[in-house]
Amino acid sequence: MIRYAEVDEKLGSLLREFGPKRRAYHTQLPFWRLQNDGVWEIPEAYVVSQTPSGDARKSDLDVYGVSGGFTEEIARQLQDDSALALRIAQGMLDAHFPPSIHEDILQAVEIKLPLAGVGRVKRDSVFLENVLKAYEYRCAVCGFDVRLRHQPVALEAAHIKWKQAGGPTEETNGLALCVLHQRLFDRGAFTLSKQLQVMVSDEANGSAGFQEWLMRYHGETVGFPQRKSYCPDGAYISWHVKEVFQGEFREL
Ligand SMILES: [Zn+2]
Repeated sequence: MIRYAEVDEKLGSLLREFGPKRRAYHTQLPFWRLQNDGVWEIPEAYVVSQTPSGDARKSDLDVYGVSGGFTEEIARQLQDDSALALRIAQGMLDAHFPPSIHEDILQAVEIKLPLAGVGRVKRDSVFLENVLKAYEYRCAVCGFDVRLRHQPVALEAAHIKWKQAGGPTEETNGLALCVLHQRLFDRGAFTLSKQLQVMVSDEANGSAGFQEWLMRYHGETVGFPQRKSYCPDGAYISWHVKEVFQGEFREL
């Protein structure tokens, strides 16, 4: 069993770091609603008053020091099969987050996945090829285009609206980015404006690298794809701003 106060602290900071920017983070919702899935129980649920929508009042969870935990059966399965929790963790990562940020999340929750899990996600090679071709094999932000013989190295096709969130695998939802800019984009350190300028977050900062790799592109228009019809779709950019981008735009 784990006390809600502890869940609130840990889950709250994970949501702030990896979740979309919100005015408040409602950690009581998963803590409470997991009961409906039959995998989680809150023995003292009866002391908690509920909102009209059937959710727990956060203040009650705090005041009464309510704890929750896996049901006996689920706890037993997790205990009997030591790899089960890891498979679930990998499954959740695959279903909800782009591979470029899996490592950061695993580090934050202090889970080490077996090596077999790394790079297990199949890359969509058609999408990759189409997007790289659209941007002529160059990072749309910095122009990085190192090749080994004729093969581009460390160049990726980022989904603007994550595939895991239903973003399509079309050029208008893609951006050719070097691995560094892909990581910064997927973590929300920068996004794009409607005019396709790089917009850096006021939450991003640093000394070495920050100026050279991020701030110097702030307000600059990204490299355009070779066809107008490949240009990023405003709806996907809006999704990225709302769901991935952290903080506010820095001043131009
Ligand atoms: Zn780049």
